[in-house]
Amino acid sequence: MNVRVRYAPSPTGLQHIGGVRTALFNYFFARSSGGRFILRIEDTDRERYDEKSLQDIHDTFSWLGIRWDEGPDVGGDYGPYVQSERSGLYREYAQKLIESGHAYYAYDTAQELLSAREEQEGKGSGYDRRFRDMPEDEKEEYRNRGIQSVVRFKVPLDGSTTFHDSVLGEVSWANEDVNPDPVLLKSDGYPTYHLANVVDDHLMEISHIMRAQEWIPSAPLHVLIYRALGWEPPEFCHLPLVMGDDGQKLSKRHGATSLLEFRSAGYLPDAIINYVSRLGWSYDDKREIFSTAELEELFSLEKISKAPAIFDYKKLEWLNGVYIRELSSDALYDAVLPFMEESGTVGNPPTDDHARILRDAIPLIQERLKYLKDAPAMLGFLFGEPGAYSPEDLLPKKLTVEETLGILQAVKPMVRVVPDMSDDENEQKFRSMADELGTKLGNLLMPIRIAITGSRISPPLFGSIRLLGAELATERIEAAINLLKSQ
Ligand code: GLU
Repeated sequence: MNVRVRYAPSPTGLQHIGGVRTALFNYFFARSSGGRFILRIEDTDRERYDEKSLQDIHDTFSWLGIRWDEGPDVGGDYGPYVQSERSGLYREYAQKLIESGHAYYAYDTAQELLSAREEQEGKGSGYDRRFRDMPEDEKEEYRNRGIQSVVRFKVPLDGSTTFHDSVLGEVSWANEDVNPDPVLLKSDGYPTYHLANVVDDHLMEISHIMRAQEWIPSAPLHVLIYRALGWEPPEFCHLPLVMGDDGQKLSKRHGATSLLEFRSAGYLPDAIINYVSRLGWSYDDKREIFSTAELEELFSLEKISKAPAIFDYKKLEWLNGVYIRELSSDALYDAVLPFMEESGTVGNPPTDDHARILRDAIPLIQERLKYLKDAPAMLGFLFGEPGAYSPEDLLPKKLTVEETLGILQAVKPMVRVVPDMSDDENEQKFRSMADELGTKLGNLLMPIRIAITGSRISPPLFGSIRLLGAELATERIEAAINLLKSQ
């Protein structure tokens, strides 16, 4: 079979995890089966249209490195790929449905249409189909009064509609449970989602409709429209829901959901792709790490699960760390630099000196960095003053100002020579000093760390001192001593 699949976002909001999951499954299925991946913009809802979200679609997928074979920007043989540029086609097929008796003109007032919309969103009761069997001469009166028409689909009043779904198997709906005669063409001449979606999937020769399970209630209606037009529907493939850890549909309450947020928090695109691709798909029970290239090869419909997928932020955080540790130093430098620039930690572009320091600092943070966004806070002390701290911050637990002063004075000359020795040698030296002072190694290192970086959490201490240089490091110890003396 010639696989042609599409991602069909409506530009009404930012790209979020659910949408990106749909896009990735379509993309990987196209790649693994030698098919085509298509982007189609479903912008028929003019009231909710938001131009920014169009840009967001492009930004999100270019950040992820996912490209479509056909779409508004790259073209293709089945264009245009933006529904607002295809209005004529939808009117043509609405007309065909009227002529074949599968649809009819209705003259509902704006108020009635509003409640019909609420009903589509599951809020209202049913539409009463009042124009379905109205004789033409009665309809004429509405026309004469200048009331604008919409085109409604005639959903059969009895029987059921059955279709096959690759994930769910045979799905059957009683027609009386299908949306009662939904609008296909609105009075502004624009189609609704239902008509445009069916017409385009057919004309674009889409082989599989892969989308989130929340679209299931629309599927029987779509099947009815396909059949009314004399077309064979594509294969359906409804993807399991994505939930938060409380079993509720993933939403802002659980944490970041838009890709923009993940991007600015400092996730790597490959970690996101890896994680999101496993929300409802697995290769086997064990394997968790997949490169994009591997997914392009291994993805298959058979392994999509029916059960809801749980979005686990901790797991994603772990995976991001795995991907960060796998990067070369140069790649991590490139990934971290925009965050350093944006936070003002280095200039944009950085001075040669700062670029060099940052390059040298990368191996120091690579092991423990979870998000790229944390890099400026971890490394800020190398590019400016240490973070602000109070005298109390310098005191190890249970130690007095005097005892801490004693420690800082004892280590000051040692700090000066840290860069000349290996980490092991330094550790031994500081350990014997701790013994000499009758205290723990940690009680020695903690005030030095605060003095030098301004934070309890920093990259490994000896490496940090080495990068900062003996001169500056000693000055900072001196400043801490003076602060404690002024107490
Ligand atoms: N435009 C719909 C959406 O926003 C597409 C649903 C489908 O794939 O059929 O998700």
